This record gives sequence, C-alpha cells and structure tokens, in this order.
Amino acid sequence: MRKIILKFPGGRYKAFTMSFDDGLKSDRPMVELCKKYGLKATFNICSGNFGRGDCVDEDEAVELYDNEYCEVASHGYEHRCLGKIPVPDAMMDVVQDRIKLEQMFGKLVHGHIYPYGNYTDDVKTMVRLAGFEYCRTAVDCQSFLLPKDWYEWNPTSHIGVPAAQELLDKFLAYNESYYEGVVFYVWAHTYEFKNFFPWERVEEFCKKISGHDDIWYATNLEICRYVKAYRSLEYFADGTHVYNPTQIDVWIGCDYGTKMIPAGKLIDLRTGEAK
Ligand SMILES: [Zn+2]
Repeated sequence: MRKIILKFPGGRYKAFTMSFDDGLKSDRPMVELCKKYGLKATFNICSGNFGRGDCVDEDEAVELYDNEYCEVASHGYEHRCLGKIPVPDAMMDVVQDRIKLEQMFGKLVHGHIYPYGNYTDDVKTMVRLAGFEYCRTAVDCQSFLLPKDWYEWNPTSHIGVPAAQELLDKFLAYNESYYEGVVFYVWAHTYEFKNFFPWERVEEFCKKISGHDDIWYATNLEICRYVKAYRSLEYFADGTHVYNPTQIDVWIGCDYGTKMIPAGKLIDLRTGEAK
C-alpha cells in the first residue's frame, strides 16, 4: 500500500465545525442559525455561572442546547484560570462542571475549552484524567490541519477577524482530495456579534459555508471521535485488508480508491468483501 488517507463520513475530505464560549443568552440566535443552515457547533458552558450576568440559566440551557445541532462541552464550573490556581482547585472546577452538565443533559460531556486559553502541562494531564477527550485552546492556527495533540486543539480562526473570510474562501475552493481530510474550525463569544462583526455578517458566513456536498458538518466531539476511530484501524501487513475495531463507520482513501470500513468489520480492500 503506497498511501492511506483519512476521509470523513461519505468519503468527504472536508469538515466544518464551530465553538462558542461561556454559555451566554446571546447564543440563542447562533443555535437558530445552526438549525437554519444545517451547521453544528459546540457550546462551552460554565455550569457554576448559570443565571449570572449574561449567562443562560439552567432550564434555558437545556431548552437551548439539547438538540442534534449542539454539543454541550465544559468550560470549567466557574471559568477559573486553570494554570494559575492550585491543581486540586483546578481539578474541582473541571470535574464539578462535567458532573453537573452530564446530570443535566444525560449525555457524556467529553469536550473542554481552557478558560482564558490558559493551561500548563499539569492542566492538560488533569483534564485528560478527568475524562475529557479533547481541549480547545484560544490560539488561531490559520490552517485546516487536524490537531496533533487533542489537548491542544488550536482552532483555525476566530470567526470575526478578516482572516476568517479569506480562510473561508480558501476552504471552499480547496479540492485536493488526494490529501488527508481537512477541518475548518471557527470560534467566538456570541456577545462579540455587535459592532465590528454583527449578526448579519455571521449569517452571511453561515450561509456561505452551508449546503456543500463535499463538507461534513460536525461538532468538535464528532470530529475528535471520528479521527480517533480512523487512527484505530488495523491493517494486514501487506495492506490488503483492514479491520475497524470501533463502533463508527470509517472512510479511507487508499490505492484501491475511497472505501468505507464498517464498524466492527474486516474488509478486503481489493474486493470490498466484508468478513
Ligand atoms: Zn470563556
């Protein structure tokens, strides 16, 4: 086998995702835009801040985020600066948020976003041990590459900066399907959608990125889990067969074309035969 590359569901090679921080009342129009344009987003909530200031309250959070377009992720119980407080305090803030959100939504909460973008090696380890599968930073990487380290997932760009518009055009025009799948990841706080980047511009952005057959629209966790499943595939030494030990169907590009490897199956890549 000369080459194996990651493809997203349906054999697509592009994915788009978003995330919005702090669990704000102003997230409501964003959820509406996701529903209107068939986009998905991750909302990073501080459950200790419910009802405080501009934050949603508990009932509102369930009503707003409990649907197929939203992933609920943690942003720390009280949005504490994890790298600058004692590790046990940081641990409490992270675990308490996960407990509360999982009890409220009845779903696993496996995503975390570092408050203030602040973290250390200890914080990364702690978050991993607390059961989170990925953590987003606040560092815009301006690229579409998949993260090397799930606990330092650098988004592509803040949605409101001029570079995001250029990246959007570049992403839509990108058609090098013989390379590994690419991800366009934008983020923001919805309270920012006022002056320099008002809601009308946000809607234009959503409209432009939506409805493309070659893009997979997914939450952060869906992308993380899919890529992990891809990386779990087991190949025959001669590259002719591949086994998918996960519960997620995975698409790959290989010498034999684009192939779907069903969950739990061993596939002969030459014939497509499943065992
Ligand atoms: Zn925040």
